[in-house]
Amino acid sequence: MTSTNENAKSWSERELHPRLRACRALRPLLPDNDDDFRKTEMHFSTCTLKLVGACSEGNLASRPIRYLFADEVDKWPDDSSLEAPALELAMARLNFYRKISKACLASTPTVEAGAIWTNYLAGSQHRFHIPCPECGHAQPLRFEQLRWPEHHRDLAGMWDLAGVERDTHYHCESCEVAWPQSLQSDLIRRGQWISGNPKAPADHISAHISALYSPQISWGDLARMFLQKKESPGGLHDFYNNFLGLPWENRAAQVKEDAILALRDPSYRIAQLPPDIEPVILTLCADPGERSTHWTVEARIQTGESWVVDYGTVLAIEDLVSPEFLAARTYFLGEKKFTPRFGLIDSGWSAERVYSVCARSGGLYQPSKGSTASFGTWSQSAVNGYPGLRLVTYIDHTAKLELYLERINKKMPPLLHLPADAGQDFIRGHSGQQLLQNKHSRLAPFYWKKIAEDHYGDCTKLHGVAWWVLK
Ligand SMILES: [Zn+2]
Repeated sequence: MTSTNENAKSWSERELHPRLRACRALRPLLPDNDDDFRKTEMHFSTCTLKLVGACSEGNLASRPIRYLFADEVDKWPDDSSLEAPALELAMARLNFYRKISKACLASTPTVEAGAIWTNYLAGSQHRFHIPCPECGHAQPLRFEQLRWPEHHRDLAGMWDLAGVERDTHYHCESCEVAWPQSLQSDLIRRGQWISGNPKAPADHISAHISALYSPQISWGDLARMFLQKKESPGGLHDFYNNFLGLPWENRAAQVKEDAILALRDPSYRIAQLPPDIEPVILTLCADPGERSTHWTVEARIQTGESWVVDYGTVLAIEDLVSPEFLAARTYFLGEKKFTPRFGLIDSGWSAERVYSVCARSGGLYQPSKGSTASFGTWSQSAVNGYPGLRLVTYIDHTAKLELYLERINKKMPPLLHLPADAGQDFIRGHSGQQLLQNKHSRLAPFYWKKIAEDHYGDCTKLHGVAWWVLK
């Protein structure tokens, strides 16, 4: 059983049939008649093998199953408002052979509440333990134990990826000695499976494996991929799921004022930057509202790390293109003069007025709009009647995850810095955001609560989107 009938058919044709036909032990059991050996239903002389998609529950009805193999169970559709989810239906088919049946579930995990991770936790939790060549301590491999030398990072924060790939080592969690990559496959060959959950029912075996054990991917490869992926929106999520085999831990979370206050950098004040920081660009983003329009200016270096340089409000959206406003947006940072070169204005409150302001800004501003989809990053489209404009549509959920959970709560790179004298209004505009759990959907298990007066936070979010666009 896999996600769809189409996947089942193409896998059967591509992978399964050639192997069955090539296997000497199976050959005598194959049917003589090709009609009995189809892509999704194969009648061997000893049993019948059927491949089905999870979307086509009808395929399973009233058919007893002794051995169930379920693939990529976390990616099966969960839209089953009337019937029980496909996995439960399939498991129920095993009842006829209850005492002698077996189910085997496999998947890349997606979220903690998904079928594969909950089944892993409920079972024996076997992990492959590797003994340290120095101290003998047996341990499952963890990404946190990979280290690469700091000297491969230049002053702008960019990594020499080839150097990282070459010089990454695994460090024993007990004695901290470095295991060279050249020993990777020899060490892994000495490992053994050890259960991490002695209380598990004896008939529920579960196991976890990650790319750290892959014969095709070196530890250095993995470090390089991590550094590359963490720069792209959603990249870390992908790295956790597909390379570390871990669910992405978006717990219900709240952004507390303390977390925002901790971003203040004592080494600079409003309209300045810390010494030695030379930005590649200044961006200006604005969030128009009923009574006023909030705007902020950020300076960014190549890695995406950013510093809030200035912020404030204007009465009308149109003030954003007034000569006085623009003249005041020139900053002397270090020895050099900087002015904002790009920015986004939220068009949700008054689209026509925002389009007209953007059109008059000489390319400084583009209009933007948040989308309520639960996956993805951004896209752009033409605006009717404004030939020079591109409307940037971004996934609000992703932009908020990056800003509030990763950059603010977890202090993950690219770091965000606030001036030492950032005011209460600015701090408050970023706090109080809440990620809540939606128990009714596995594919969109979390959502952001709507809150009032978060205009400065929305500006900071738009700077993040502006950086996706600039990159
Ligand atoms: Zn050791």
